[in-house]
Amino acid sequence: MTERLEELMERAAGGRGPIVLLTGAGISAESGIPTFRGAEGYWTIGSRHYRPMELATWSAFTEVPDDVWGWYLYRRSVCRAAAPNAAHAAVAGLERSIGDRFLLVTQNVDGLHLRAGNTLARTFQIHGSIDFMRCAAECVSDPEPLPETLGTEWEKGRPPGPREKDLLRCSRCGGPARPHVLWFDETYDEPRFRFQSSLQAAIRAELLVVIGTSGATNLPNQMCEIVASRGAPMVVVDPEPTPFSELALGSRAGVFREGTACAVMPALCDEIRRAVAGAGKA
Ligand SMILES: [Zn+2]
Repeated sequence: MTERLEELMERAAGGRGPIVLLTGAGISAESGIPTFRGAEGYWTIGSRHYRPMELATWSAFTEVPDDVWGWYLYRRSVCRAAAPNAAHAAVAGLERSIGDRFLLVTQNVDGLHLRAGNTLARTFQIHGSIDFMRCAAECVSDPEPLPETLGTEWEKGRPPGPREKDLLRCSRCGGPARPHVLWFDETYDEPRFRFQSSLQAAIRAELLVVIGTSGATNLPNQMCEIVASRGAPMVVVDPEPTPFSELALGSRAGVFREGTACAVMPALCDEIRRAVAGAGKA
């Protein structure tokens, strides 16, 4: 813990705005979750090989909905077989300690933050979640959890059968449901993905901690740009320099903590907790 970081924590804790954590694939890498963007993401339907960017689309879902569901159910089984790690536990512990000062914005669809104990109320899943589905006809925008009776194990390449297709239905209109995931040919919005609320959080944040994300997507970029341009405290945690660590180091109150999420987050969350508790007593 450097003096610089301690000073930033005290400054952040003394304010009234939220302490915002932004997480990406890096925090789940130590739980063994593949990104599904590289080689592990390739998927074969019949004789055709799909790249993830082709399959994770509304257009693919309209053409081969069962195969898209099969791919998501398999990916979900991989996520469910993994366990939250020390970094997820530290983040969940921080929410328990600082309550309403806490806000988590995650790009991850793996559900590990919620399984570690973070609450849905204070977790914005800006790319959706593999554990949720929603009405394909959008009769309602709220996602609902996948039914328990579906089970969490799935064999690679198996599309849902008649029993499963019956479970993958909108509980309101009875029509087919779709995975609640932001697809490559879709855009962020507020009701489903908390787009405006996430930008508002960046505008009001007393501190932004960026963990394991390198800035490939639009909303995290905008959030980091906003915080850096405000000169608000920003801590970037990553094993290697990223565009976000460069941004932090070039801003008035940015710090780069080089290391994996599991190595850095437990101590960092303790520091935040202590700073917030100290500010409460002052
Ligand atoms: Zn519906």
